Amino acid sequence: MKVQHHKIVIIGAGIAGAALAHRLGLLGYTPLVIDKRGIAKGASGAAGAFVSPKIGKGSTLQQLTNQAFDIAKDFYRRYTPEHFFQSGIIRIPKNNEDAQKFAAYAAHNIANYRTLTPQALHEMGIKAVFESFFFPEAGVCEASDVCHRLMQETPLLSEEVYSLQQEAETWKLTTATRTLTATHVVLCTGYEDRLADLSYMGIRGTWGTRADFATKRSIPYTMHQSISISATHNGIVKVGATHEKQITTPIPCDETQAQRLKTKAADLVDSDDFQLVRSYCGMRSGSRDFFPLVGKVIDVEYMLQTYPKIVRGAVAPLRHLKGLYILGGLGGRGFVFAPLMAKWLSALMLEETPVPDTVNPDRLFWKWARKLEIRN
Ligand SMILES: Cc1cc2nc3c(=O)[nH]c(=O)nc-3n(C[C@H](O)[C@H](O)[C@H](O)COP(=O)(O)OP(=O)(O)OC[C@H]3O[C@@H](n4cnc5c(N)ncnc54)[C@H](O)[C@@H]3O)c2cc1C
Repeated sequence: MKVQHHKIVIIGAGIAGAALAHRLGLLGYTPLVIDKRGIAKGASGAAGAFVSPKIGKGSTLQQLTNQAFDIAKDFYRRYTPEHFFQSGIIRIPKNNEDAQKFAAYAAHNIANYRTLTPQALHEMGIKAVFESFFFPEAGVCEASDVCHRLMQETPLLSEEVYSLQQEAETWKLTTATRTLTATHVVLCTGYEDRLADLSYMGIRGTWGTRADFATKRSIPYTMHQSISISATHNGIVKVGATHEKQITTPIPCDETQAQRLKTKAADLVDSDDFQLVRSYCGMRSGSRDFFPLVGKVIDVEYMLQTYPKIVRGAVAPLRHLKGLYILGGLGGRGFVFAPLMAKWLSALMLEETPVPDTVNPDRLFWKWARKLEIRN
């Protein structure tokens, strides 16, 4: 049987793979996307998909997140308007201590926000006792629909990629039914990192649950405190998320988590009539330093064999695996980061435009290599 060759193959059809496929489509390319479970069946299908800015004291991660938020809200409004509800998001302090921090955060907020008093919040039916921030441009995506919409022009192969091997200038991918080759391969595989040696990136999974409830109440705005509660849409309110680091492989969704979310929701809104419609769960992935992972993949074996002294702190020229890339480590903000990260990665792949150091996985290599010496 003739082996099919593709210029670009993306492995993973979550929001990372979908945003990249969409971006490449706009630039005139038709990548093949391969996912063992179909579109948005990993973390992306579970996400509450709240698209909001980050608050804080102006850290680099906050600045990057807010840059990504600025792109994301316009992206979803433009390309998936029927699946993005720009309901505005209220950020509510958890307690007295948190409220004091909010005062320091104000100077680092994105420009378009305002402060809501506890009285204004009470008038909206929100049980909050502290001044809160309101971001009117923030909103909520219908996670699965957004991914499907972004991939509507993209061919999809629903199979697991078992192996990925470099052969001269191409990559050979093997699934249960076929072998195919590609010039560029992008790993958008979320928390799963076994197709290449990505150990230096420190990819970790965190298990999370979200629950959708039917309600007769009308909740006008999305809000976030220790959990997130969406504005009601078609009689449904989305409540997310619990996060559990000790769960390392996916387990069936547990209804008790959903009930716990309902109990927590009662701290903010009247949730008596919330009837569970469905709970979702999934494993989101983060990097060692919580920044996204966007760029080329280092040839770890070559580096360690050719420059054994790097484990003792020596520096050597980095060699990457030609044509292999990653777009991942999006943490709890995949829907915020994906559009900007897809833009940066496509510019790297097609024009060799470097990605910013903050997201380039190379940043994690040297420290990881030195730790190998300590471990041995
Ligand atoms: C409960 C919960 C709530 C969340 N809430 C929000 C939120 O409000 N806002 C927000 O922005 N983010 C949120 N997140 C985070 C967000 O979901 C993730 O950051 C995002 O979905 C990551 O997308 P991804 O495409 O990188 O990974 P995934 O969606 O996990 O996609 C990876 C895909 O790769 C496929 N795959 C892996 N290995 C292979 C292989 N060998 N062959 C073929 N296919 C393979 C998998 O099947 C999977 O579909 C939440 C996450 C959870 C779990």
